[in-house]
Amino acid sequence: MPDESEYEGGCLCGALRYRSTAPPLRGVICHCSMCRKHSGAPVLALVHFPLQSFRWLKGEPTRYQSSQFAQRGFCSACGSTITMHEEVLRDRVQVALGSLDDPDRVRVDDHVWTQEKISWFEIDDELPRFRQSSTAVPTKASASDDGR
Ligand SMILES: [Zn+2]
Ligand SMILES: [Zn+2]
Repeated sequence: MPDESEYEGGCLCGALRYRSTAPPLRGVICHCSMCRKHSGAPVLALVHFPLQSFRWLKGEPTRYQSSQFAQRGFCSACGSTITMHEEVLRDRVQVALGSLDDPDRVRVDDHVWTQEKISWFEIDDELPRFRQSSTAVPTKASASDDGR
């Protein structure tokens, strides 16, 4: 078992494994259509870890350049959605919340891109909601330039 202050996770097949020695900076549930396509799920939850505390224990994700400003990482063996890399958030690694071994230990701060939310998907919590990006982080994304 990892130390209490450490967070570990990986993909479905185990070819990719990572560890963060610091707690997450932030957690977010994204409702944008690109996250939906990338994950195949109604929403994609991402947890941000500081880059300097994060390392790959095994393998590294294959990256897909999904927009001018962002890359999305996945396991080339099993296809698991595993990371998101954004130019404006170079100080961190965003991992898919579901890839964590113990997702109960992390918290989500807000919902973003709710303007693209599936109409029947009901948000039933008191977290802040943003029609586009959260004000908590810088972004290059906008409704028109597809920087998501
Ligand atoms: Zn895998
Ligand atoms: Zn998104």
